[in-house]
Amino acid sequence: MNRNILLSSRRSFLMGIWTVFLGRFLSSQKVFAASVDGESSFSLGKEEWKKRLSPEAYNVLRKEGTERPFSSELNNEKRQGIFACAGCDQPLFDSSKKFDSGTGWPSFWEALPNSIETKTDFKLIVPRTEYHCKKCGGHQGHVFNDGPRPTGKRYCNNGVALVFHPAS
Ligand SMILES: [Zn+2]
Repeated sequence: MNRNILLSSRRSFLMGIWTVFLGRFLSSQKVFAASVDGESSFSLGKEEWKKRLSPEAYNVLRKEGTERPFSSELNNEKRQGIFACAGCDQPLFDSSKKFDSGTGWPSFWEALPNSIETKTDFKLIVPRTEYHCKKCGGHQGHVFNDGPRPTGKRYCNNGVALVFHPAS
């Protein structure tokens, strides 16, 4: 009898702890996903995105995937123009800020003003700064602090997440 009471109170204690943890986990997940799922000015449902994008672009833009290095033609794009988001066509980078990083991904040392937002991700355990299109929330790449002057930044971008508009 006593033992039963003890067990059941222990169980509800554990349930209590679990609920607190679960609540924290869910709310932190929500904060993390907000930039991708709801608060952007250009918002589509999952199925609409799938119709709009190639499977490769969908995997990067909406699932935070990474394309294979040297797989994008935009890695070698050297013309003048604007690199825009493949999800919503928001201009993100000017060709004058592009440089050859040797990584196999299109790289830039500066983004256009007000075009992107960042968040910290822990996918590789070591924290990295993820960035995404401010308009549609589509994932673009990661930004590192080993870029060239004057900013010292290296925006390492998935080519499949961009479209190039050559200057006319
Ligand atoms: Zn976008």
